Amino acid sequence: MKNLFKNFGIFFIIFILIIALFSFMGEPKAESKRVGTETLISRINNEEIEKIIVEGTKIEMQLKDGKKEIVKKETGESLSELLSNFGVEKEKILKLNIEVREGEGFDYWLVTLLPFLLPFLLIGLFVFLMMRGVQGANSRAMMFGQSQAKEFTKDEKHKVTFKDVAGVKEAKEELLEVVEFLRNPKKFLDLGARIPRGVLLLGSPGTGKTLLARATAGEANVPFFHISGSEFVEMFVGVGASRVRDLFKKAKKNTPCIIFIDEIDAVGRKRGAGLGGSHDEREQTLNQILVELDGFEPNTNIIVLAATNRPDVLDSALLRPGRFDRQVVLENPDINDREAILKVHAKKKPLAKDVSLRHIAQRTPGFSGADLANVLNEAAILAARKNKKIIDMNELFDAIEKVMLGPERKSRVITKKERDITAYHEAGHAIVAHYLPNTDPVHKISIIARGQTGGYTLKMPTEDKHMHTKSEYIEEIAVLLGGYLTEKSIYNEVTTGATSDLRRATSIARRLITDFGMSEILGPRTFGNKEEMIFLGREITEQRDYSEKIAEQIDEEIFTFISRATKMAEKIIEDKKDKIEKVVQELLKNETIEKKKFEELVKD
Ligand code: ADP
Ligand code: MG
Ligand code: ZN
Repeated sequence: MKNLFKNFGIFFIIFILIIALFSFMGEPKAESKRVGTETLISRINNEEIEKIIVEGTKIEMQLKDGKKEIVKKETGESLSELLSNFGVEKEKILKLNIEVREGEGFDYWLVTLLPFLLPFLLIGLFVFLMMRGVQGANSRAMMFGQSQAKEFTKDEKHKVTFKDVAGVKEAKEELLEVVEFLRNPKKFLDLGARIPRGVLLLGSPGTGKTLLARATAGEANVPFFHISGSEFVEMFVGVGASRVRDLFKKAKKNTPCIIFIDEIDAVGRKRGAGLGGSHDEREQTLNQILVELDGFEPNTNIIVLAATNRPDVLDSALLRPGRFDRQVVLENPDINDREAILKVHAKKKPLAKDVSLRHIAQRTPGFSGADLANVLNEAAILAARKNKKIIDMNELFDAIEKVMLGPERKSRVITKKERDITAYHEAGHAIVAHYLPNTDPVHKISIIARGQTGGYTLKMPTEDKHMHTKSEYIEEIAVLLGGYLTEKSIYNEVTTGATSDLRRATSIARRLITDFGMSEILGPRTFGNKEEMIFLGREITEQRDYSEKIAEQIDEEIFTFISRATKMAEKIIEDKKDKIEKVVQELLKNETIEKKKFEELVKD
C-alpha cells in the first residue's frame, strides 16, 4: 500500500514537471513575433500573407517574406467572425489560405484541461494524504491489541535443542515428554490420555528457563511463540487480555506449536493482592489466560510453557490441574552440571591445553548457568584485550572474580591510610574465618577495589551445600564482623568501610530468628508474612503477623546473636594479632594473597 502512495507522489511531481515543460514549449517560438489584431487586419488588406494557421486561440501568419507572426484571439470566436467584425472585405477573406488545426497535440489538451483538472487533482491528493494518515493511525490502534509474540519457526541456524542445554537432567526428561506429545499426539490420545496443557518452569534467574523452553520447541521442531509477561501489562485495561486472545488465535493457526510466556509472574500474581491501578489490568489478563487454557479442545496440539522465578506469588488458579499442572524446577547447577555448562559454552572458544573446566567448576559454587556463560565470555574478552590467541587459566580465574564481585578498579586513588585500614579490615575477615571451625576456607584476599567494595576476602566451600546449620550462620556473622572489629582494635576507631558487612550480619541474625526458627527464646516458628503487596509501585514485602512485644523480643535476640558472634571474633583477633600483622604486611606488599600463600602465612 505504502508503495502505491509513494508512486502516486512521484507520478504527481513528474506530471507537474511535464506541464511546466509544455507550457514553455507552448510559448511562441523565438522567430515568430507576437503582434496585435490590427497588424493581422492590415496584413490581410495588403495581401502580405501566404498562409494562416489557426490553432485554438492562436493565429499564426506565415508571411510571403518567410516571417511568422502570431496573434491571439478569444476562445469561442471564429477567425471569419473576427475578421468580418473588423470589416475585412469578403474577397480578401476568400483569398486567404486558412488551415484550421484543432489542437490535437498533447500540449493543447494539457493547456486547456489543466486549469479545470488541477484543483481536482490537488483536492484528490489532499484527501489521499488524509486517508493515509488516518489509515496509519487506525492500523496502529488495531495492532495495539495484538500480541507482540515473536515467532521462531524452524530457523535452522538459530535452532536450540537439548544438546545446547547442559545438566538439568530431570527437567529435560520432563520436557522430553512434552516433545513426545507434540511429535506424536496420536499415541497418547489413543490411550485416552489427556495431553498436558501447561508446563511451568521454576527457577532463579539465569538457570536456563528461557533456554530450555526454546530447546523444547527446537527438539520437537515446532513453531515457538515467545512473549514476556511484562508485555501484557499495559497502561490500558483490556489490552493485555486482547493480546492473550490474539496470541492464542495465532497459535491455533500454527498447531502443533509451543507458546512460551516468560516471566509469567508479571501477570500471574495472586489476584486481589495489590493496591493501585495496574492490578485490574493484570487480573483481566490472567483471567484471559485461564479462559484460553480451559478453552482448548482436548486434542489441540498446543503446549503452553511458562517461566517464573517467583512461584510463591503465582495465583493458585494457574496451578490447578488442566492448567499449569506440570512444574519443572531448575536449580543452580551442581559441580558436574557446572562443568557440563562450561563445556557447552567453551565449544567455540580456543582454550589453552592446561585449562581444566573441572577446576573452574570447583571454584564457582552457587553460580547460575548464565553466570558460567558470562565467565567464559569475560575470559575471552580479557584474553583478547591482552592480544592473546588462546584463553588460559589466569583469564578464567580473573573472569570468575569479575563476575562475582564486579570489575577491578585499580585506578581508584586511595590514600596510604585508607590502604592500611583496608588491609587490616580484610586480614581481620580472613583470620577470623580461618580459625573458626565451621567456615569455608579462605581462597583469596585482596585490597584491590572491585565493584562497590574496597577490598575482598573470598571464601570458597569445598563442596556444594544445600543446608546450613545454626553454628555456620553464627560464625558467618563473626567473619563479617571480623573486619570491623579488627579496625576497632588497631585504630580505636571505625570507618564507613564496614557498612555492608554490618548490614549483612544484621540481616543474617534476623533471618535466623524470623525464618529459620533458630532462636531458643522465640522458638520454632516464623515471623512476618512474606506475602507480596504492591503499593504505589513499591513492593511491601513483609507484613507483621506478631505483636509489638514479640517485635521487641526479636530485636533483643538479634542483639544476643550479634554479641555472641562479636565475642567469638574478638577473641580470635586478640589471640592471633601476630598472624593479622603478617597478613597485613603481605597485603600491603603484594595487594593480593592466594590460598596457598595465606596458609603458609598462618601456619604455626
Ligand atoms: P532464565 O530465563 O532462567 O533467567 P536463561 O535461559 O535466559 O535464564 O539463561 C541465560 C543464559 O545462561 C543462556 O542463554 C545460556 O547461555 C546460559 N545457560 C543457563 N543455563 C544453561 C544450561 N543448563 N546449559 C547451557 N547454558 C545455560
Ligand atoms: Mg528468562
Ligand atoms: Zn568487610
